[in-house]
Amino acid sequence: MPLRRAMSTISRQLQLEQSYNVIKHKVEQCVLEHKIPKAPRIVAVSKYKPSDDIKALYDLGQRHFGENYVQELVEKAKVLPEDIQWHFIGALQSNKCKVLAPIPNLYAIETLDSASKADKLNKFRLDLPKLHVYIQINTSAEAQKNGLIYSDIPAIVALANHIMTKCPNLALEGLMTIGSVTQSVTSDDHHLNQDFQRLVEVQKQVSAVIGRELELSMGMSTDYIEAIKQGSTNIRVGSSIFGARFNKEEMKHVIS
Ligand SMILES: *Cc1c(COP(=O)(O)O)cnc(C)c1O
Repeated sequence: MPLRRAMSTISRQLQLEQSYNVIKHKVEQCVLEHKIPKAPRIVAVSKYKPSDDIKALYDLGQRHFGENYVQELVEKAKVLPEDIQWHFIGALQSNKCKVLAPIPNLYAIETLDSASKADKLNKFRLDLPKLHVYIQINTSAEAQKNGLIYSDIPAIVALANHIMTKCPNLALEGLMTIGSVTQSVTSDDHHLNQDFQRLVEVQKQVSAVIGRELELSMGMSTDYIEAIKQGSTNIRVGSSIFGARFNKEEMKHVIS
């Protein structure tokens, strides 16, 4: 490798190590300060980021990574270590279930929102460890957000039961939400994030009916500390670790 490239690789690795350590430290502090019984899992959201970045974090011990786009996940899973635990966190399209489910080290689909997609994932998950799933809940009632509406508890219970009784190759792990930006910027020590609170309420009600405590996937770069305080067990942190991302439009110019 030419010297200049080697040096820029090293400086990138140091940068990632620094931001990663900051996040881990903040999470640990929060867990101690608020006497949280179990530290949440950190999912490093690596969408649009190169495999080298992922490998650098892997070398620091990080194993759970989140991706939003099917093709990107497929390509990265091919070239990166087999013991990475991938999380699919993008909008789940029905026709992509058969592409995702057979990826051996896909740990979880966090955006499941229908019984028919659960059936498809179940069908294509053969001779592999169970695929964990999270039911996505729309807690902000914003039209552009996916997921089952938080107020429809019977629908959420029905999907949970469907997964548990009809999908032996899936393991229901929890509930996931992407809160609204408004809630994220207005919540602080005195104002709970209402979207996170709604997910907690849904969890209580659903867990009581199905007789099992469900995990909670909530919290991103701007609000993961709030999320942990409110009970998140799985935070999804992207830009605070990897730096700002190009948006989709800018990305098109970069790839083409
Ligand atoms: C991109 C993304 C994240 C990470 O967002 P950051 O703000 O960069 O931490 C988390 N969850 C989902 C569903 C995402 O699409």
